[in-house]
Amino acid sequence: MSSSSTSPSPFVSGLKCACPRCGKAPLFAGPLNPLAMRDKCDACGLDYKFVDTGDGPAVFGIFILGFLCVGGALIAEFKFGVPWWMHIILWGILTPIFAVFLLRFLKATLIALQFSNKAEEGRIAKE
Ligand SMILES: [Zn+2]
Repeated sequence: MSSSSTSPSPFVSGLKCACPRCGKAPLFAGPLNPLAMRDKCDACGLDYKFVDTGDGPAVFGIFILGFLCVGGALIAEFKFGVPWWMHIILWGILTPIFAVFLLRFLKATLIALQFSNKAEEGRIAKE
């Protein structure tokens, strides 16, 4: 696993949800399962077995989404005075949609950062 100097920025790869090495092929399988990853890159052949984002995308997603949804609910309540049932419909529909899209970008960005920083589990050095 090596990051060449021609690799795109991890943040560009993350926003495009593309391969962290070539930035050309999509990282995720498809729209029906938006968070499932492919086994390897279709363009450069990078094997995605090294990927280990753990709970990172979910933690960042909870913080960002919580801020946006609570802020949006407060604005909707106090600026526009929407009724309580509108909050349930609005946030009950928008929150899961935002969550999936946000998780895609965050997961792709953390994978690209893991790739570019060569982050992996610690190992005892072989001498
Ligand atoms: Zn690639």
